[in-house]
Amino acid sequence: MNDESPAKQKWQKAIGALWPAAKGSLAKVYKPCIRKNCPACARGDKHRAWLLSFASQGRRKVMYVPLALVPQIRRAIQNGRKIEKYLSRTGPDLIKQYRQTRKTDPNTQSNS
Ligand SMILES: [Zn+2]
Repeated sequence: MNDESPAKQKWQKAIGALWPAAKGSLAKVYKPCIRKNCPACARGDKHRAWLLSFASQGRRKVMYVPLALVPQIRRAIQNGRKIEKYLSRTGPDLIKQYRQTRKTDPNTQSNS
């Protein structure tokens, strides 16, 4: 299969447009802080925090997400899902494309 095929160009364009992309999940949690005499914690109002959970070498890991980064991480996860959908389609597309080439091209093969 030709490496500079239109399918590859289409792929690069589609995937490139989906940056930033990430795999994981974002969760909002409420936690008490470690400050002494925190008025919010004393009232029972915990502090909002965002966590990104993701898999790293088969293990589940969690990182705090800075508030300013939450929209970007959220978008990255959405883009990551789109990329996964795209990947699921690539296998069948390759097979269909191959079948189509076999159907339409057997006589023109010697010309190329
Ligand atoms: Zn607190």
